[in-house]
Amino acid sequence: MTYYFDHNATTPLSDPVLACVSRVLRDSYGNPSSIHAAGQAARQEVEYARSQIAALLHADPHEIVFTSGGTESDNLAILGAVRQGGAAGKHVITTAIEHPAVLGACAQLQGEGVDVTCLSVNGDGVVDAEDVCRALRPETAVISVMQANNETGVIQPLEEISAIAHGAGVLFHSDGVQAAGRLGTNVQALGVDLYSISAHKLNAPKGAGALFVRKGVKLQALQFGGRHERERRAGTENVPGIAALGCSAEQLLKHRNSESLRLAALRDRLEQSIFERVPGVTLNSGSAARLSNTASLRFDGIQGEALVIALDLAGFAVSSGAACSSGAVEPSHVLLAMGLTPAEARSSIRFSVGLGNDEAQVEDLANAVAASVARLRKLSPEYQHA
Ligand code: PLP
Repeated sequence: MTYYFDHNATTPLSDPVLACVSRVLRDSYGNPSSIHAAGQAARQEVEYARSQIAALLHADPHEIVFTSGGTESDNLAILGAVRQGGAAGKHVITTAIEHPAVLGACAQLQGEGVDVTCLSVNGDGVVDAEDVCRALRPETAVISVMQANNETGVIQPLEEISAIAHGAGVLFHSDGVQAAGRLGTNVQALGVDLYSISAHKLNAPKGAGALFVRKGVKLQALQFGGRHERERRAGTENVPGIAALGCSAEQLLKHRNSESLRLAALRDRLEQSIFERVPGVTLNSGSAARLSNTASLRFDGIQGEALVIALDLAGFAVSSGAACSSGAVEPSHVLLAMGLTPAEARSSIRFSVGLGNDEAQVEDLANAVAASVARLRKLSPEYQHA
């Protein structure tokens, strides 16, 4: 039995989503592009989900493009917007703490003759909107800044940045993959032109996502084939995944606020219990506003990977950094960008609470952390007890 505290890596399916997926897999197996009844039943599922997601984002259903997940949404937004009309000579602004899905797309564009400015963040992990302003150039095509960071949960000043972007006539993309389940996702209030979400971070299955594309914004497609998604994303739709994402969007609209409060209480209790039991622990995000479910803590004298393994053996799933880079030995690029030393970054653990966690699990986890840290520190030559 594992207690799961890694909800920023991926999430379990909620009961309504599981019921929706089963129903659609069983009943709506048609191809949404077929004109017969089976095809049209599947088409209805896709279009209903589109309206559910549009409602969550305060968008028009025509502004929702289905993708295979967060990575594809980020790629389509950045590559699609910059390549539209030719990439060479253009300029993109992003930040050093973005997910590899954004940084990788920017690196790809550099190879196509695009100049990329990668802004740093302060010690708490927050981007300064003034830095975005200073980085603007006449040839800037897109600014991409995430809504909340996957490792620290730190929330970025999107409204300020979107005002700057629009003042300069530049498109603004935000990766909302972590934030969408936990914060407001009103794309009008945020002022974003492009906004990425991913089903598997929202208690729905892997393999589906969506990109909000503001009306009038043109994107060059990444895939070529049929005329799906109004020629913005070729390929037969993942009907069960899309229906699940729609169902999860509806659930979020109903329960997100109360669930966020519940998770904040659990997260705060976890932090408090760890601080009470374990000396030499620091909250990496300082006093920055962050997602209600995320805690990135560093433990003096500990190797994060060793603590992850110790906790796994004790029956708790946590992460030593972004899931996508776990297994790699490099310290987290997010924590390094915040000014942590490589040793400090390596000693960090991310706890992310979510569906299924409760107070008893949190107390058990805090006890296991205290016991594991004490054991590992006995073996750590680096650790000098104060
Ligand atoms: N963006 C952020 C902030 C993420 O946390 C992730 C996944 O960890 C992604 C993008 C990639 O999403 P997906 O796994 O759906 O491709």
